[in-house]
Amino acid sequence: MEQKMVQPKEILRECEAFLEGHFLLSSGRHSGAYCQMAYLQQYPDKCEQVMALVAEKLKDTPIDLVVGPAMGGIVYAYELGRQLGKRAIFTERVDNVMTLKRFSIRPGERCIIAEDVVTTGISSLETKRVIEEAGGICLGITCVVDRTTADKPSPIPILASAVKLELPSYAPEECPICKEGKLPLVHLGSRKMKEQAVQTINA
Ligand SMILES: [Zn+2]
Repeated sequence: MEQKMVQPKEILRECEAFLEGHFLLSSGRHSGAYCQMAYLQQYPDKCEQVMALVAEKLKDTPIDLVVGPAMGGIVYAYELGRQLGKRAIFTERVDNVMTLKRFSIRPGERCIIAEDVVTTGISSLETKRVIEEAGGICLGITCVVDRTTADKPSPIPILASAVKLELPSYAPEECPICKEGKLPLVHLGSRKMKEQAVQTINA
């Protein structure tokens, strides 16, 4: 039987983890798309399908441990660890500093970081520091969505992602979606606004 190809971008759309429209970001810039990865976690079966794409790319990588920074990385680290048959833990912030609060990493353990989205990779550096301070070896990052660009590459190698998305943002006065004048600008601060955004997109 022919197996249906998993289209990660479509799955993210179905879960509303990936929205397209006209959005006001917290930075004040405008964007034609928006990622809210926690929405994928609502559906464990879809999360499993998406993470299978990441696990497949790691099948020849010698890994001992998957480390997910809280909150965004916890579920993805768990699911990846489950599929790879490896231990999975999470790091978390204590007084705003990333720490290994409740788990241990053994010296020499080969670790990968599991993130939801990687944009600059800067936050993954904190997790890398935690791994190395414990004596572990950080092999690189895995993520659901790779949003890095050629001119701003991640400081830590991205070993595997489910999908690469280019989501440009614009200064309000330069926004091409404003200029086109078809889609109202949506603030993503509230759930109600998000629902309206989804209705606008699906209309
Ligand atoms: Zn705009």
